[in-house]
Amino acid sequence: MPTKYIFCTGGVVSSVGKGVTAAAIGRILKARGIKVTIQKLDPYINVDPGTMSPYQHGEVYVTFDGAETDLDLGHYERFVNIDLTRASNFTTGQVYNSVIAQERRGDYLGATIQAIPHITNEIKNRIKHVGQLTEADVVIVEIGGTVGDIESQPFLEAIRQMRTDVGPENTIFIHVTFLPHIGATGELKTKPTQHSVRELRGLGIQPHVIVARSDYPTPAEVIDKIALFCDVEKRAVIPLLTTPYLYEVPLLVEDAGLGDFLAEALSLNGKPADLSGWRELVDRIKAPKAEITIAIVGKYVALHDAYMSVREALYHAGVANGTDVNVEWVYSGDLEKDKGWDRLEKVDGIVVPGGFGYRGVEGKVLAAQWARENKVPYLGLCLGLQVMCIDYARNVLKWENANSAEFDSATDYPVIDLMPDQKSVTDMGGTMRLGHYPCMLKPGTIAGDAYAEQEVKERHRHRFEVNNAFRDELEAAGLVFSGISPDSRLVEIAEIKGHPFMVGSQFHPEFQSRPNRPHPLFDAFIRAAVDCHGNGEKEPKVDGK
Ligand code: GLN
Repeated sequence: MPTKYIFCTGGVVSSVGKGVTAAAIGRILKARGIKVTIQKLDPYINVDPGTMSPYQHGEVYVTFDGAETDLDLGHYERFVNIDLTRASNFTTGQVYNSVIAQERRGDYLGATIQAIPHITNEIKNRIKHVGQLTEADVVIVEIGGTVGDIESQPFLEAIRQMRTDVGPENTIFIHVTFLPHIGATGELKTKPTQHSVRELRGLGIQPHVIVARSDYPTPAEVIDKIALFCDVEKRAVIPLLTTPYLYEVPLLVEDAGLGDFLAEALSLNGKPADLSGWRELVDRIKAPKAEITIAIVGKYVALHDAYMSVREALYHAGVANGTDVNVEWVYSGDLEKDKGWDRLEKVDGIVVPGGFGYRGVEGKVLAAQWARENKVPYLGLCLGLQVMCIDYARNVLKWENANSAEFDSATDYPVIDLMPDQKSVTDMGGTMRLGHYPCMLKPGTIAGDAYAEQEVKERHRHRFEVNNAFRDELEAAGLVFSGISPDSRLVEIAEIKGHPFMVGSQFHPEFQSRPNRPHPLFDAFIRAAVDCHGNGEKEPKVDGK
C-alpha cells in the first residue's frame, strides 16, 4: 500500500487545537490497526525551539533521539503512544539551512535557487522521509500557524504539490477552524470558516474535512451550511465541542464519524476501530475522585504551556492513583520576596521543574528547603534536582553560598557544575546533553523501588550536573544518589534518606509519561502526596525569609 498523507491546516484563529486534533486522528487510526506517524511543520525561522523563550514558544519537547521540538510532539506521543524522532518536526530555518548548504556544496550548480521548486522540494522530501523512515501506512502532517500567514506559504504550496506527486487518492486535507459564538443572538457563526477555506482554495487546496471547534454545541443547520459553502461532504464536517477532558477528543472525533470517513477516503484496510481501552481511560478520568493539590514552583507559571508535559504527567499519575490533581502555580520569584508561601503551605506535594538562568532560582532553592524540612513530597526535574542539591549543601552541610556554576561561577562550593564536555561549547543551539541516556538504579531506594528495574533510559536537556568533587561528602551527609550513569560518572537521580519522598532527576521523566502508563517517578510521587494529604501542620515558611 502506498504511504497515505493527512495534512492538517488551521484557520480563523491560532491555538484552536490543531495539534490535539492531529494527535486524536493518530489515535483513532491506530485503533484500526493502522501504522501512523505524525509530523509538525513549523513556519518560523529558528532552526528549532531550543533557543526560544518559553514565553514565545511554551515547552520544548525533547524526543528520545535528542531533538528539541514543538510541544505538539508531546500531544502526539501521549495520544498515539509512539516515540517520535527528530524527523517529526522541522522549521523554515532547517529547510533554508539545508538548501543553502546544498547550494554552497555546489549541488545546484548553474541554477537560481528559488522558493519554488527548491524550498518546496526540500519540504516535500522531509515529509516523504518521515514516512519512509517509520514505514508508516499514514503520515499525519500538521502545518503550524494559520492559513494566510506569509511564512506558512511555502509549506502550503509544498502540500498542494504533494497531492499531485503521490496521487489524490493518497492525500487528505483537513482544515481545523473555529466557530465564534455571538452572545446577543446565541448563534455560532460560520463566516470566518468560509473565509478561511476561501483563502486555502486561493492557494490551490480544497479541504476534504472541516473540523469545526466551538465552545457551544453545533446545530445540524450550521453543519449543513459549512458543508454547502465550503464544498465539503456533510459527514466530513466534524464538530468539535470544547471539552474539559483533553483525552476525550479522540472519542469525540471518532463518534462524529471522522475515523470511518478517513479510512474510506484513503482506502485504508484497517480493522474495525477498537477504542475500548481509551474509552475506559476517559471513564476513569471523568469518574468523581478525591483531590490533591500539587504546586509547580517555576518561573513561567503565568504560561502553563511552558510546563505542558509536567502537568500532563501529574495528571496521568493522578488518574492511575484515583485522584484529581489540582495544580497550584507558584512563581518562584515571589517566594524570594516572602510572597506565595501561604499557597505553598496548603499543597500536598511540590514539583520544581526544569529551568535556565538566575531569575527565580533562589525561590526554587527555598521551596526545596521547605519541602525537605517539612517532609512534603518533592519531585525535582533537572533544575529541580540541582536546587535540591544546592539546598542540601547550604543548609545541611553548611557550605555557605554553595551554588550551581550556572548562577555563581565564583562560589567555593559549585555543587552543580558544567559537564566537562560542555566546557568548549560556544554555540547555544542544540548543544546541550540531549536525548535519552541509560541510568542504573540503586535497589532499595525510593527511585529503585518506583521503577522496579535495574536500568532505564530517560531523556535529558541540560548542561550542568552534580559535581563529582562533592559527591562523597553529599552522600555521607545523607543525600542518596539512587540513579547513576552506567560508567558512574554522572548523577542521574538524587533522593533524601528519611524523607517520605524527596527525589530529583537530572533527566525529564515527564516526556515518557502516557495517559494510560504513568511514569514510575510521577506515580510514586503522587502516591506519596496522597499519603501526605491533610497530614498535620507544616512550618509556615523557611526561617528568616
Ligand atoms: N539550567 C540547568 C542546566 O543546564 C537545568 C536545565 C533544565 O532544567 N532542563 O543544567
